[in-house]
Amino acid sequence: MDIKYFDHAATTAVDERVLKEMIPYFSESYGNPSSVYSIGRANKEIINIYRMKIANILGAKVNEIYFTSCGSESDNLILKGIAFANKNLGNHIITTQIEHPAILDTCKFLEKFGFKVTYLKPKENGIIDINDIEKSITRNTILISVMFANNEIGTIQPIKEIGEIAKKYKIFFHTDAVQAMGNININFKDYNIGALSMSAHKFYGPKGMGVAYINENIPFMRIQDGGHQEKNKRAGTENVAGIVGTGKALEIATQELERYNAHIKKLRDFYISEIMRRIKYVKLNGDIEKRLSGNANISFSGVDGSLLLEELDKRQICASSGSACSAGLLNPSHVLLSIGVPKNLAKSSLRITFGRENTLEETKYLIDSIEEIVDKLRH
Ligand code: PLP
Repeated sequence: MDIKYFDHAATTAVDERVLKEMIPYFSESYGNPSSVYSIGRANKEIINIYRMKIANILGAKVNEIYFTSCGSESDNLILKGIAFANKNLGNHIITTQIEHPAILDTCKFLEKFGFKVTYLKPKENGIIDINDIEKSITRNTILISVMFANNEIGTIQPIKEIGEIAKKYKIFFHTDAVQAMGNININFKDYNIGALSMSAHKFYGPKGMGVAYINENIPFMRIQDGGHQEKNKRAGTENVAGIVGTGKALEIATQELERYNAHIKKLRDFYISEIMRRIKYVKLNGDIEKRLSGNANISFSGVDGSLLLEELDKRQICASSGSACSAGLLNPSHVLLSIGVPKNLAKSSLRITFGRENTLEETKYLIDSIEEIVDKLRH
């Protein structure tokens, strides 16, 4: 039986068109972009072409795009790089309790170096109250970091409004857009975003590729020492094939966003309404409207989430009980606890994230399977 993949927030398959564009850069055009001879210079040129592509899509300048190895590295580079370079301006950072560990653990690290961090609690619907942001600002606040969309419950934060507050108080504003990129059109003309992180494997690009956008007026220091790549801001021989794949994947995601969003939203809405209709004692976590089109996070009261996943796996269904990074751990999700979901209900949650290739037939099979499994586990 074929795999039924409903875990697109964890990762996605590389789009065939992306793979095709990447292949020549593994063994044909393999020159080191730092080398002076022609095959090296050619790859430096290729990197710049794809950097330009990404900058154009975002409405950024080409010198504001940095390639990294993943979304986590982009988060680290931006938070640590901006915090340390601007310590003379203040030592206070505002973020939220529902960020990915790449942000939360980086903030914990910065606390060891004298930074003070405010971790804002979202409202019950998983959305941050912008008044709480404004109230938390002090004379020492240098950075606000709020994720664009949450990886577990899919809620979309009021990024435009937060950007306006940051602008008013002249505070740097970063958003972790790892889950949003490819699902929401993000152009800096519409947002006052100073720095942004993304990860190619979430939008049908290759794993091991991240992008950090950092506005040219924001001072930041490099975190990874070594060579002079990425304008001396991030050492390491560039992943040429990965950069090509990231640019191509972002281009496709942007061009096809509306079509695919409509498709996955239809499947997601059908899934939620059928689960609610057919199964008792279920709760949708996170705002019903302000969420990514493909995300459904539902708690099944009285059901052990890890057993539910195991049973789904036996039926070749891939899903998740929380973020991929914390799956396998027995602890209930910090995101669900933060929005006030009781511990037991948090442990009974199932995250389904739809993607381009999912079909209605697969979704019906998923719903039937969940109904059967929940019934079995409750008895
Ligand atoms: N930020 C968010 C919101 C994520 O969902 C993830 C991964 O799931 C990351 C950061 C880390 O991205 P990567 O896996 O590329 O390190």
